[in-house]
Amino acid sequence: MIARRIPTILPSMTFEESLELTKIYSIAGLLSDHDGLIEKRPFRAPHHTISAVGMVGGGRIPKPGEITLAHNGVLFLDELPEFPRDVLELLRQPLEDEKVTIARANATITYPSKFMLVAAMNPCPCGFYGDPFHECTCTPHQINKYLSKISGPLMDRIDMQLQVAPVKYADLEGPSTTDSESIRKRVEIARLMQLERYNGQKIHCNSQLTPSLMQKYCKLDKSGKLLMKEAFHNMKLTARAHNKILKVARTIADLDGKDSIKEYHLAEALQYRNLDKYYQNIRS
Ligand SMILES: [Zn+2]
Repeated sequence: MIARRIPTILPSMTFEESLELTKIYSIAGLLSDHDGLIEKRPFRAPHHTISAVGMVGGGRIPKPGEITLAHNGVLFLDELPEFPRDVLELLRQPLEDEKVTIARANATITYPSKFMLVAAMNPCPCGFYGDPFHECTCTPHQINKYLSKISGPLMDRIDMQLQVAPVKYADLEGPSTTDSESIRKRVEIARLMQLERYNGQKIHCNSQLTPSLMQKYCKLDKSGKLLMKEAFHNMKLTARAHNKILKVARTIADLDGKDSIKEYHLAEALQYRNLDKYYQNIRS
């Protein structure tokens, strides 16, 4: 439910983004003549039986894959460990490069693929590991095998990893406290702050920060530096994870309307990496 609502809180597409997306859908043969510009960010949720070509594109008559159809929007993979591992591994490069290059016999084709990867998975094959109300019937070996379908390098590229508690029936009935529209307004304000901050830097949002720009825009105060140092060692973070956490902290600070990253912004960002620890535990 959360995943499907993400497009409703994303900032509206710029005219250029709309144009680019419309071209992609036109090439893919998914537009009819009377369709105008696509104005809604895409939400793609391919089934786990998808082929490598279906995911990244290609084929005898080359066509864009799901990662390109999700350009400027969301690619949602439900039951992540059910996807073939080789298909998941193909996502790594496009996640870094925001484009995908497909080698052909006599040429190569490049499609844009700037998508937000959102994935969901169970904690174990039966789904009840860690559930306070049900007993998990899986063996440690089964759990290990299930989780190891997602490689460390792929997990490392996922900025935020959260465990969610089972929903109680009573919580389903209660009134919703926030609506998408008010969240989207906060997102738009944070995006505007970023646009102004990076004016003249050839980037427009936090996720695009390069390591050298991060030194300028993601400075930590003394207590923040200490916390980061501790977390880096305790959570055995990679350099990539370290940078991603800093960028998420920058975004949390922006949503909080603060110019500098405070210790509590960083602490919140660190909490969104809880599967890293989980993964190290099952592997060691
Ligand atoms: Zn289980």
